[in-house]
Amino acid sequence: MVTEILSSNELKKIAPVFGQASFDDHEQIVFCNDQDTGLKAIIGIHSTVLGPSLGGTRMWQYNSEWDALNDVLRLSRGMTYKAAVTGLNLGGGKAVIIGDAKTQKTPELMLRFGEFVHSLGGKYITAEDVGMETKDMDLLRTVTPFVTGISEDKGGAGTPSPITAYGVFMGMKAAAKFTYGSDVLEDKLVYVQGIGNVGEALVEHLTNEGARVVIDDINRERLEVIRDTYDVEIYEGKNIYAEKMDIYAPCALGATINDTTIHAIQAKVIAGAANNQLADENKHGLMLQQKGIVYAPDFLINAGGIINVFAELENYGREETMRKTENIYNTTLDILNSAKTSGLTTNQAALEIAQLRIDARRKEK
Ligand code: NAD
Repeated sequence: MVTEILSSNELKKIAPVFGQASFDDHEQIVFCNDQDTGLKAIIGIHSTVLGPSLGGTRMWQYNSEWDALNDVLRLSRGMTYKAAVTGLNLGGGKAVIIGDAKTQKTPELMLRFGEFVHSLGGKYITAEDVGMETKDMDLLRTVTPFVTGISEDKGGAGTPSPITAYGVFMGMKAAAKFTYGSDVLEDKLVYVQGIGNVGEALVEHLTNEGARVVIDDINRERLEVIRDTYDVEIYEGKNIYAEKMDIYAPCALGATINDTTIHAIQAKVIAGAANNQLADENKHGLMLQQKGIVYAPDFLINAGGIINVFAELENYGREETMRKTENIYNTTLDILNSAKTSGLTTNQAALEIAQLRIDARRKEK
């Protein structure tokens, strides 16, 4: 086989898409290009075994198109496992739009993107992610029904961020129970990195429970707003990872647990909203395990958002959304315990449960 004789770098040269580690057997990848609006987007459909692929659209100014491709592939694969481990009948997909959401997100560009989503006939259903707002989903809804997370006054489930934050809070509590013997977060020192939509709602839960919260963000203005609203401190140091803390909550972008940071990390528990927190899920998952750091798998504890948008497709109400989201506590505790018994990393243990569900459905089909 070609893969047996070539190094991974050589393989990437002759197979730059299918040969990428992040490709991981995607069903379909769609490149969307429109000269008139300047749209450059990629839709990754990782799996439709459990149902239509669903995942948010991210708008971000990537350093290169390769970075954008790599990001969408990693994110869409994550959605497959997120839906599967949460017990939802959904597949995994994701989209990225290359560009600055603040300056380049025009209604024309969004509508054109919506037409591309529509052309897939429901195989991919979009939602909100970084750089997107509920009103963008409302706009997409005018050209395609294959969009979730639209405003409540338009019959949608509204912004997913508060539900995501509630699920992260539940997952964090379960990880605290596993690590410290109690899920009460009062007096625990928690660093929240990234205080955007999800980060802020998480800060609210944490401060309500009496946790000591330190916040970090690249947006100074935002830091000051949050500091003036909640009982929190702003992080002023240079290396957040090396700070003594009980819980590190990554709520900005992915891959913050990597070769550089992992040696510095002082937290006993990592539980946050960001997708793909482990730069290399096997290597860094194992390194965390060896350091005795309890990692609550991101795709498991940040599933509140997808539970919320799934309500729009399945027509269940807020009560059922909250019940399913609260259940993240039980699933997290089960997975942490099963990882301890099996010796797998927590990430592998969660993936294994998700994969079993996918394989069973594939067999049925
Ligand atoms: P957001 O854009 O509202 O907030 C992200 C925040 O992170 C911003 O305030 C930004 O300034 C900050 N940030 C960016 N880079 C940073 C850095 N290097 N250091 C510190 N702060 C930095 O996004 P969000 O909706 O709050 O989502 C946060 C994360 O959670 C993302 O990774 C997203 O993919 C993930 N997530 C979100 C949802 C949801 O429902 N919104 C669901 C699942 C996962």
